[in-house]
Amino acid sequence: MLSGPTVLFYHGVAPRKVDLNVSNLHHSVEEFSAQMAFLSRYFNVISMRDLEDKLSGNERLSSRDVVVTFDDGFRNNLEYAAPIVDTYSIKPTLFISTGHVDSGMRFPTYLVRCAIWHLGARSVHLETIKKTYSLESESCKQAALKDILLRLKRSPMNLVRQIDTEVRSLLSVARWRDLDLIYQSEEVLDWDGVQRLVKAGWEIGSHCKDHAILNAKNSPMEITCQLMESKKRIASKVGHCDYFSYPNGEEHHISKNARVEVQSSGYSLGFTAQAGDLQGKLDLLLLPRRLAPKSVLHLCYVLQSSRFYRQYHRRWVQSLYPS
Ligand SMILES: [Zn+2]
Repeated sequence: MLSGPTVLFYHGVAPRKVDLNVSNLHHSVEEFSAQMAFLSRYFNVISMRDLEDKLSGNERLSSRDVVVTFDDGFRNNLEYAAPIVDTYSIKPTLFISTGHVDSGMRFPTYLVRCAIWHLGARSVHLETIKKTYSLESESCKQAALKDILLRLKRSPMNLVRQIDTEVRSLLSVARWRDLDLIYQSEEVLDWDGVQRLVKAGWEIGSHCKDHAILNAKNSPMEITCQLMESKKRIASKVGHCDYFSYPNGEEHHISKNARVEVQSSGYSLGFTAQAGDLQGKLDLLLLPRRLAPKSVLHLCYVLQSSRFYRQYHRRWVQSLYPS
């Protein structure tokens, strides 16, 4: 039995997987192609505009409606995902972090993963968080990675920026250049690439300016800046920016204030990473999405199980904004 309409989110598509300890977000070309073929055969893959239209009551949503979205803004979206979705006439939405598109700087999570796996030292001290991590074994590296990534998710943006700078300084510029070549799939799109996707029919939304996690640690001013500046930047480059996806987007990554600011910034739809389907009464600025799994078999499961998370999602939305 099908669940209600579902919004899926991907990150990227890469021709080969180099080292999953460093780069684990992307689907292989084969996996992604198989999923698009499956969706276009058995589902109605609709655009974000169509979804917005249907959510505003102009047309009924069907349980077979699926929307394909991507988060972050990797260059591989243009190189590998775009030709595949084009084959099936699928029009995805890409949520970009405009500061990274402007600077070309890769995401802090990539820097941390790379540094932990390629530092070649027995330990590493991070002065920013006043902690020394052992890197003696695989399990020590995994533990260090887990702790630093958790801190990145839970810290205010000023601390995230400091951790980013310190981790960047652990390796030489030449070493980073070599590693960036090995992990090409982590490269960020530039504006030319974004505009080529728009020409191919992709919709562009915001994923904050700096991929900021809009939790309660961030000040209202930081949250407003992340939402407004990215929206303005996208509108200046592609004409409009109406949709937003919360970085990380799980319940503890979204503060009460974040949703208020998404509304005052003028976004018409906001997407979380909370599981659920688009059925019944929905808060248009806290819509559920499902992370696309790696195989078609698991995708079948995801598309059938979204409805089981509906009540949980609704309870969480109500806890933020009792109606
Ligand atoms: Zn993201």
